[in-house]
Amino acid sequence: MQRSTLLRYAAYPTVFGGLAAFVLVWSTLGNSPWPAYGLVAVAGIAVVALLERIQPFEPAWNHDHNDTITDIGHVLVNLGLLSGTAYALHSLAGWLPSMSIWPNHWPIALQILAAGAVMDLGLYLMHRLSHRVPWLWHLHAIHHSSERLYWMNGERRHPLSALLLAGPGLVVVVALGASPLVISSWLTLLSVHLAFQHANLDYSLGPLRRWIGGAELHRWHHKREFEDAQVNYSEYWLVWDHMFGTLFDPPQTLGATDVGLREARFPTSYFGQLTWPFFRR
Ligand SMILES: [Zn+2]
Repeated sequence: MQRSTLLRYAAYPTVFGGLAAFVLVWSTLGNSPWPAYGLVAVAGIAVVALLERIQPFEPAWNHDHNDTITDIGHVLVNLGLLSGTAYALHSLAGWLPSMSIWPNHWPIALQILAAGAVMDLGLYLMHRLSHRVPWLWHLHAIHHSSERLYWMNGERRHPLSALLLAGPGLVVVVALGASPLVISSWLTLLSVHLAFQHANLDYSLGPLRRWIGGAELHRWHHKREFEDAQVNYSEYWLVWDHMFGTLFDPPQTLGATDVGLREARFPTSYFGQLTWPFFRR
C-alpha cells in the first residue's frame, strides 16, 4: 500500500483512536486528568500539525497567510480557556448545583459518549445560532476569516464566541450531574478532533465520513460565500446535520482560494480580531 493511501485512512483512527484508548484507560483507573489530559491533547494536536507537513490536502495552505502569529495567540488563549474550565470543574466538584440524575453507574466509556452527545448537540445549536444572530456571527466570523484551513483553525475563535458555543451544553451536563472526569475526558478528545476537523491533511474517515465531522465535509462549512457556508455545522457527530437537514456532501473538492470571508479588510492581528466585533466599520 502506498504511503499516501495508508496515511489517508490510518491517520484519524490511529491518532484519535489511540488518544481515546488512553483517556478511557486513564479515567477507568481513576487517575487524575491533570496534567495527563493536557499533555496528550497537546501531543495529539502536534501529530496533526506534523502529518500536514507530510501529506497536505492543499500544499499552498502549509504556507503562512499572514496569520501564523495571530493563530498561535488564539491557540494559547483558547486551549488555556479549555484547560481552565476543566480545572475549575474539578476544583468545584461537589459545590456546583446538580440534579444528580446522571447515570454514574454506567461504564465510563458510555458516560463519556453520553456527555459528549449532550455537549455536541449544544455546540450544534449554538453554532447555528452563531450564523443566524448578527452579534453572535460577528464574534464567530473570526473563526471563518482564515484564508486557509490547517490545524490551528480549530482554536481560531474569539474567546467569547468559544464560551458561548460550548457554555450551554457544558452547563447542561454539569446540571445533570456528570462527573468532572467524564466531562474533561470528552473535552480532551474534542480538542484533538477539532485540529483534525480543520487539518490541512489529506485524510479520510472512509465509511464514517458522513457520520463523524472530519475535514472532508467540514471544509464546505468554511466556503467563502456566506450563503454556501450554512452546512455541516456539527463539531463531532454529523447526526445533528442529518437530523436538521444541513448535511452537504458534494463529489467535488474545495480549491485553495475557496475558504475565508468576502470581507477583504478583516484584521489580521490578534487584538484587531478580538476588538473587531465591537468596533468594526
Ligand atoms: Zn461556523
